[in-house]
Amino acid sequence: MAAGGGRVGRPAAGALVAGWTALADLVLPRTCAGCAVPGDVLCPDCRGRLAEPRLAEPRRHPDGFPPTVAAGAYSGPVRPAVLAFKEHGRAELATPLGRALALAVTGVLAGLPGAGRGRPVLLVPVPSSTAAVQRRGRDHVGELARAAATELRAAGLAARPAALLRRPRGTRDSAGLDAAARRANLAGRFAVRAPRDGPPVGAVLVLVDDVVSSGATLTEAARALAAGLSSGNEPVLAAVVAATPRRSGHRVAARSPGTFTVRT
Ligand SMILES: [Zn+2]
Repeated sequence: MAAGGGRVGRPAAGALVAGWTALADLVLPRTCAGCAVPGDVLCPDCRGRLAEPRLAEPRRHPDGFPPTVAAGAYSGPVRPAVLAFKEHGRAELATPLGRALALAVTGVLAGLPGAGRGRPVLLVPVPSSTAAVQRRGRDHVGELARAAATELRAAGLAARPAALLRRPRGTRDSAGLDAAARRANLAGRFAVRAPRDGPPVGAVLVLVDDVVSSGATLTEAARALAAGLSSGNEPVLAAVVAATPRRSGHRVAARSPGTFTVRT
């Protein structure tokens, strides 16, 4: 930001202070995006709600739904925190939410057989529709993937974001559609973006997204990825920040210990 480059005159002190306070709130938000307590962009309690990684299981398991781990339940203060990041421009939440996503990634990788350990990990963002990216002015899942990859590399994993999927123009956002409409909307709507250096050999592909609800989006994305990168019979895995519990009001709707049952 250019400061002091031109003549700014002499605004009243009160206006100057108010302006700086508003600017500081924009640059350094002082309240938790989840529960609004002052002090941090996401307070320790809200971070804690995104440190409970477990398998996400749609109640009506779609055929081809990839093994998916969520860092927490999409309920309580987690909802406004994710929405603040996704829809209200609080891009600084990429760091704590990316950390949660990294935790989910390590959770789903833990399910791989021992031979799978130590392989490079590609975090493939589930792309939003072009219209949604234009409306938001940013690719929030791409930001999450980059933040999570940074966390994972710091922990010693060879992880990097890889934008291998795209949404052809004309595809709608699935928000607000029921499960059947989502499937119809999504069928065949993801296309693989061929990597410049060819298909990844030996890499573990982990789809990443902010929230899983019906599982339809991850199912279609996994299908497209597996079909478009037929380098082997590698399963596509998935990790998300949060899973929508089947019944709202339940902090964690667990069908069995260690499992989120997500809404369908
Ligand atoms: Zn909080």
